[in-house]
Amino acid sequence: MSFTMHGVAVSGGIAIGQAHLVSHALLEVAHYRVPEALLEEEVKRFSDAVSTVLKDLGNIRASLPNNAPAELASFVGTHIMFLSDSSLSEVPKQIIRDEHCNAEWAIKQQMDDLVAQFDEIEDVYLRERKFDVVQVVERVIKALLGHPRQVPLEKQESGMILVAHDLSPADAIQFKQHQFAAFITDVGGATSHTAILARSLNIPSIVALHRARDLIRDGELIIVDGNLGVVIVNPDKSTLTEYRLRQEGFGLEQQKLKRLKLTRPVTLDGTLIELHANIEIPEDVVQAKAAGASGVGLYRTEFLFMNRNAWPGEEEQFSAYRKVAETMKGMPVTIRTLDLGADKQIDPDAARTCTNPALGLRAIRLCLSEPAIFHIQLRAILRASHYGNIKILIPMLSTLSELRQAMHLLERARRSLRDQNIPFDDAIPIGGMIEIPAAALKAETFARELDFLSIGTNDLIQYTLAIDRTDDAVAHLYQPLHPAVLQLIEMTIRAGAKTGTPVSVCGEMAGDPRLTRLLLGFGLRQFSMHPAHILAVKQQILQSDLPKLASGARKILASGEIERIEPLLHKLNS
Ligand code: PEP
Ligand code: MG
Repeated sequence: MSFTMHGVAVSGGIAIGQAHLVSHALLEVAHYRVPEALLEEEVKRFSDAVSTVLKDLGNIRASLPNNAPAELASFVGTHIMFLSDSSLSEVPKQIIRDEHCNAEWAIKQQMDDLVAQFDEIEDVYLRERKFDVVQVVERVIKALLGHPRQVPLEKQESGMILVAHDLSPADAIQFKQHQFAAFITDVGGATSHTAILARSLNIPSIVALHRARDLIRDGELIIVDGNLGVVIVNPDKSTLTEYRLRQEGFGLEQQKLKRLKLTRPVTLDGTLIELHANIEIPEDVVQAKAAGASGVGLYRTEFLFMNRNAWPGEEEQFSAYRKVAETMKGMPVTIRTLDLGADKQIDPDAARTCTNPALGLRAIRLCLSEPAIFHIQLRAILRASHYGNIKILIPMLSTLSELRQAMHLLERARRSLRDQNIPFDDAIPIGGMIEIPAAALKAETFARELDFLSIGTNDLIQYTLAIDRTDDAVAHLYQPLHPAVLQLIEMTIRAGAKTGTPVSVCGEMAGDPRLTRLLLGFGLRQFSMHPAHILAVKQQILQSDLPKLASGARKILASGEIERIEPLLHKLNS
């Protein structure tokens, strides 16, 4: 039976493919077939993960203090026992070989079987041991995710559409390694970090479909129209034909845009605009360069900290930052210090215990409360600055005192490097994110203390309008064109101009070509966005005449109602 569902479009384009349902959280693992020739490699990947977990558990047991509760030691011991048993350490290998499934899928299948057997047991204590099986399997899956396979997946997967109830940013970052055609979820807001990652993957995606996971069955043919936020399940022949044509048309437009790659982003009146890229992992730099970005305007370093058991140390961070700096070959690389917290949690329990995570210990607040972790990151960034053109960006500033504390810790990191004679760029520029209304209102004060500002519109909208960016129940109220939001953006850009401090926008608004002229009209000359959007924004820039935009932008700013802004924006863009 064919039916249509509507949700919130977060990433454009059209995908046609088979639904691939995933369950929850960690066990929401990718399922794919491994080609015959790579089976033994997959078995080895599995064995390596089991060995890693056994080693980790052994270390945990060995490091338990003498006065640790007895249950803790026995709990770790039970996990070691389960994982050493052939039902978990050997049977999945056979499943990989027999059924050609990936390691995560194989151990998940075996876990489901074991859990079903435990459910049959009458003794309550023994029955509850199924949770130990689940936990130890989660550990193995985590270890596997830390060692994703390097080979391309089978073709079949490129036509797969991931259907999930919810996806965390930590889940979504893994999809960078796989080639899904699209993903759709029941919940989520348009500028959640999960949605941002979808955009960076440049695949169509829709959130807030509410019952997709219930209504769609595994393997069903679906169309995802990421432009309109529509999913068509089991389309009839004529709909399918029409969508194939639309898909082709969209592809052709993307091809045409590619011709602009080497064109300099200069307006009709001859002003050069800087187009930088947002990246999440060092490998994203390849896409940034391919899109012709002239720098990295936002490197979200927190993704280096996700999907793993231990925090990355200084050496690991240093080599990631250095790699980006070197690959960009002298172009600016803006490294944002850790912005963990809110929807970017590495510890799901922390999110549960925090009553309002978006207003909690997030970003710079977290770093100031954990100076040892911050110190490691600052040292790593400073060390990398010797190998390229690095800038430091501090997220979520709300007060000058936070900035001063951060500067103090930065100075301490500098001093420690000097003491060890380790080279770094002593003049490294320091910038701050303007993403809290208080900071936007006081942008001039921040501008006087900093080398540059970067407006994070995603959070600025969230905090100005009191709309949780991850909550689909209020997604319709998340309005980038709200007059208050526009006013705060314009004020910040003006404060930058007044103080001679460069200002960029690195939130999602920067990558929306509908808003390019408006931002240019406000005086913005530097945009940072996911590489996938650079060419479309460049196309707008090439057709814009700056002297003509200022008065249109002023009219929009003066307009107090969003309903009046839409037609004015339309006029500005035509
Ligand atoms: C923003 O808030 O606009 C931003 C760029 O930061 P993030 O989306 O990572 O919170
Ligand atoms: Mg932000």
